[in-house]
Amino acid sequence: MTFKELDISDPILKALVKKAYSSPTPVQEQAIPIALKGHDLLGIAQTGTGKTAAFAIPVIQQLNRIQPKGTERNIQALVLTPTRELAIQIDDCFRDYSRYTNLRHTVIFGGVNQKPQVDTLKRGVDILIATPGRLLDLINQKHIRLNSVKHFILDEADRMLDMGFIHDIKRLLPMLPKQKQTLFFSATMPQSIASLSKSILNKPVRVEVTPESSVVDTIEQKLYFVEKPQKSQLLVRILQKKRRSVLVFSRTKHGADKIARILNKQGIGCEAIHGNKTQGARQRALTDFKSGKTHVIIATDIAARGIDIANLEMVINYDLPDVAETYVHRIGRTGRAGNGGTALTFCSQEEYAVVKDIQKLIGKKLNAVAISA
Ligand code: AMP
Repeated sequence: MTFKELDISDPILKALVKKAYSSPTPVQEQAIPIALKGHDLLGIAQTGTGKTAAFAIPVIQQLNRIQPKGTERNIQALVLTPTRELAIQIDDCFRDYSRYTNLRHTVIFGGVNQKPQVDTLKRGVDILIATPGRLLDLINQKHIRLNSVKHFILDEADRMLDMGFIHDIKRLLPMLPKQKQTLFFSATMPQSIASLSKSILNKPVRVEVTPESSVVDTIEQKLYFVEKPQKSQLLVRILQKKRRSVLVFSRTKHGADKIARILNKQGIGCEAIHGNKTQGARQRALTDFKSGKTHVIIATDIAARGIDIANLEMVINYDLPDVAETYVHRIGRTGRAGNGGTALTFCSQEEYAVVKDIQKLIGKKLNAVAISA
């Protein structure tokens, strides 16, 4: 499936090429066509699944059909999200995906001076990303009117309730026009969220993607106790057995390059991707990997965030990450959509504390494998 097949318009396609997204993630593949048809949506997806683009792209595309011009603008899309960090990230996504349109967007959140936010609002925006408190505040001060909103997105609804925003949401809802599209996203669906969604959505289509943390059961996890100087030998031995697609995680960019050099010397075709590589080089490395030209890719955590590789056979943690949660994200790269997968972890003595954290987090012990001489 390509973005073009999802009927995404040219200015957005061009922006996605610039982002080097080669294909839609599962939540995008499911949600975009529904949202483009104007339906309400109930999306069950976590951060990391590509859910932001799943709502941002159809909103941009629908608003861009109208082509607003000049300063005579009303807020036509409102994204409500619980935290300042998420709000900023979402705003960045809108900036990236709407790069080749005339649409204007801005982000507001509390804890900072409101003046620059109000100034931007006065110049006219089409898309507003907001945390609930500051939004209500600026509405009360008459800096914001929501009566032109056509698309309302409630992001991370479960976190929103956990953080006690239910009353704010209930105050905001009546300020929105009755006639609108609502896209509702939550990572989990407890009873409280289900009933909130029912009260907000109109004949919604439900889209659900498997959260990364629950993929763990379908992945075979193995632990190798190996000291740093012996890690590269072990990696070479494992990769010399036939593998179709392996993602190796390195904690540092320098480490990723070093592993790539060692493997290439041993005739194992591979490439490293990380923040010091140009966008073009990263894209080439991914294309080679996806097409099967290379079988191994070495990545840092940050570089790997944007990679969506279907049918990844194996993930190797050459180094352990700093925090246990990252392990879950890393190994969630394999075993997607119910497929099996294998995750190997190389652990030196000094890294063992992280393994203990990981075992606690996932609620099971990693299988230690003896290394034969
Ligand atoms: P999100 O779940 O929206 O927080 O997205 C997680 C990460 O995936 C972000 O870094 C996005 O830039 C990236 N991303 C979203 N969609 C795609 C895609 N189709 N291909 C590659 N990366 C993507």
